[in-house]
Amino acid sequence: MKKILYIDLDNTLVNVQSGIDRLTNAEYSRYEKRLDEVPGVFARMEPISGAIEAFRTLAKSFDTYILSMAPWGNASAWQHKLEWVQEHLGADATGPAYKRLILSHHKHLNRGDFLVDDGMAVGADRFEGELIKFLTPKFADWHTVTRYLLERAETPLRSDPRAKRESRSLRSSDLQTVVSSAR
Ligand SMILES: [Mg+2]
Repeated sequence: MKKILYIDLDNTLVNVQSGIDRLTNAEYSRYEKRLDEVPGVFARMEPISGAIEAFRTLAKSFDTYILSMAPWGNASAWQHKLEWVQEHLGADATGPAYKRLILSHHKHLNRGDFLVDDGMAVGADRFEGELIKFLTPKFADWHTVTRYLLERAETPLRSDPRAKRESRSLRSSDLQTVVSSAR
């Protein structure tokens, strides 16, 4: 069974600044302190470098989902996040993100093994699996994150020879118990 991997959108797959750079002066001054509420701002954002290729690669080795928050005060963001995913990762069933977009203000309620996220908000800090903090010195880009995750895609039982030895010796001691209790 593949491990479950969640990936955030804003500043993880999506370059938020690229959308803000495309706002008109009027939009910019009207929404000054809440730029994520500008209608249609998400439709103008580009992917982060290497993000789309990384998602496609990781989706082959992990049970992969997008886990993102959409602003409560910007209904168009909910629509445009879906459209962004469809545009950049495909709209039909052949796409790696097909029906795998989760918009939530409670990321900790999603169970799984890994979450790649640049932030700690809306439950990311309480995620039960491993939080891979994107855009930090350890995970500065998608190349680094992809390499780190692919090394952890397999379960230890299948790939770690030490774990195999342990399970083998466990089996032989179990057998001894069965043999001695049969005597
Ligand atoms: Mg984010």
